[in-house]
Amino acid sequence: MQADAAQTLSYRGRFAPSPTGPLHQGSLLAAVASYLDAKAHKGKWLVRIEDIDPLREIPHAASAILKSLDAHGLHWDESVVYQSQRQVLYQDVLATLAACGSTYTCACSRSELEVSAGRHQRTCGIHGASQQSPPFAVRFRVPHQTGKFEDCIQGAVPYTLHSGTDDFVLQRKEGFYAYQLAVTADDREQGITHVIRGLDLLHSTPLQRLIFQSLHHNPPEYGHFLLLTDAKGRKLSKQTHARPVDDQQPMKTLYHVLLALGIQRQEIDQASTIQELLEAGIQGWNRENIAAKTNLVEADYWHAEGKA
Ligand SMILES: [Zn+2]
Repeated sequence: MQADAAQTLSYRGRFAPSPTGPLHQGSLLAAVASYLDAKAHKGKWLVRIEDIDPLREIPHAASAILKSLDAHGLHWDESVVYQSQRQVLYQDVLATLAACGSTYTCACSRSELEVSAGRHQRTCGIHGASQQSPPFAVRFRVPHQTGKFEDCIQGAVPYTLHSGTDDFVLQRKEGFYAYQLAVTADDREQGITHVIRGLDLLHSTPLQRLIFQSLHHNPPEYGHFLLLTDAKGRKLSKQTHARPVDDQQPMKTLYHVLLALGIQRQEIDQASTIQELLEAGIQGWNRENIAAKTNLVEADYWHAEGKA
């Protein structure tokens, strides 16, 4: 594909898995999509391990994920970043957001939130940062807002945000930094220009853009692709028992991932090494091909694999 000249100079993309299990087919597809988009734009591709939720993490999963990426020829361009080592950065960003009035403390209990299916109902933040004593969560003060953002795969994505109920957590009561804060702080600090990820994270994008706005920093471009599903139409994930990728058969797996990403069969049939496969993938990469039909090709392969 033809890369935009300005993007070519500065593109920085990333793949950011959580170490909650080994790399499976769906997460490998996400890795390859972000890799191909970065390389098709002559950009850098970074890997960040999102290990800020110790309760969900599995020992050695991070090293297993990195080993699988390596086995599939997906080599990252800079040192791997671990969120568990970046508490100081998150603390700084949280302090900056607090200083500009974008946050408030919330002592709502878990049972209060459960009544409303986890959505925030109270108006803790109405009078500015309240004077509650810990433990409390820190929430982002979301404005009433109807708008749209330009997704580089899906096109214009409309959204509506509700002040109060959509006020999301930046730091949890237990002191852990929450996903939205850590991701935005990292994307900003790492100079990420493009975030290519699955549609399951689409709802996060307006929230992350709000944080960027509060920090007076341009957000990255976001592009969301359709997720692989199993035979029942469920997203391939650890919850649906997606099978870990087989590091002993990287050629076979990569071949099917490339087909699922819209690369033409004749473009990759001649490839005899992993590098040739990936190179053909880069040449054939086209965002338009992954807008809506990611999982419609090679369905038999994925479904057969998913059953195992
Ligand atoms: Zn509250």
